[in-house]
Amino acid sequence: MTKEQLQQFFVSQGDKSFRGTQVYEWLWGKGAHSFEDMTNISKDTRQMLNENFVINHIRVDQMQRSSDGTIKNAVKLHDDLTVESVLIPTPSRTTACVSSQVGCSLDCKFCATAKLKRMRNLNPDEIYDQVVAIDNESRLYFDKPLSNIVFMGMGEPLMNYNNVLKAIEMITSPEGLGMSPKRITVSTSGVPKMIKRMADEEVKFKLAVSLHSAIDEVRTSIMPFNATFPLNDLREALEYWYAKTKSRITYEYVVWKDINDSRRDVEALVRFCKYVPCKVNLIEYNPIGDDHFKQAPESTTNLYVRELERNGITCTVRRSRGKDIDAACGQLANKSKEVAV
Ligand code: SAH
Repeated sequence: MTKEQLQQFFVSQGDKSFRGTQVYEWLWGKGAHSFEDMTNISKDTRQMLNENFVINHIRVDQMQRSSDGTIKNAVKLHDDLTVESVLIPTPSRTTACVSSQVGCSLDCKFCATAKLKRMRNLNPDEIYDQVVAIDNESRLYFDKPLSNIVFMGMGEPLMNYNNVLKAIEMITSPEGLGMSPKRITVSTSGVPKMIKRMADEEVKFKLAVSLHSAIDEVRTSIMPFNATFPLNDLREALEYWYAKTKSRITYEYVVWKDINDSRRDVEALVRFCKYVPCKVNLIEYNPIGDDHFKQAPESTTNLYVRELERNGITCTVRRSRGKDIDAACGQLANKSKEVAV
């Protein structure tokens, strides 16, 4: 419920609207999991709340820790479904990678999450609570609060747009976690209509697009929804985004052997990168047990880097984290085994 709804509820009970504010602060600011925790609220009121409401909080069911320090949470939802979120520590920052849907409705051929059926969208509080859980772990295990959030877990955030935006509102609100939107990145496979809507709403977080190919036929063969949202539509939406937000886009890109490793692929990417100010993250392929996809050799990645840089396009080569616990990009598929932390 929104703060206003809670306030109205209390007024309708003959109480003060301020009581609604208090409950709201307990839920979002202090992460209360039960009405009993709300100690500045009278016993009678707490009992009345218990009779009228439930708090559907998430539960970290299992936690796995990678040899590189990455932590993966298997998160149980109130209806017994599971999603995963990841804490990625580096010396300078800790990043939470959170899920936006249970499963995914897209069918990217190289992604383990795509093998799971999309069961439902996550609610704003379920997204928010993943962040809180990781923030707590960051403080506990690394002695510092969470610094960044990426919506790169399970699901397509722009297909759960309203809830993702509500969650970000709470994450950035002083009543919630008070984080800067500049430290939040939403990653999308590229839903043009929603990219334009975000631009219209002048959101302040960053945008990443999982591109993987700048040639329609290649992209459609590995990301079939590209047939519905071809590169020209994506390009137009990104131009619109940049015109409105002046925020540089990050393209995520994996180079696979015999799929997008030719000079033609490189040239197409360079051309695409010229439309809108951007940078390219060349990410390592994390095998998902499918022989069709193999990481291209380093020499091919180097060719990409050379050509991008020669054309003045910033480019970074990203090593994967958390591979040994299936926590790396594209590996989230609820496979966690019992592992002691
Ligand atoms: N649906 C959104 C959010 C998921 S982000 C999106 O597509 O952007 C997950 C990122 O990991 C995406 O960039 C995706 O393309 C990438 N990815 C998926 N499977 C991968 C794999 N096996 N190895 C490396 N990256 C992968």
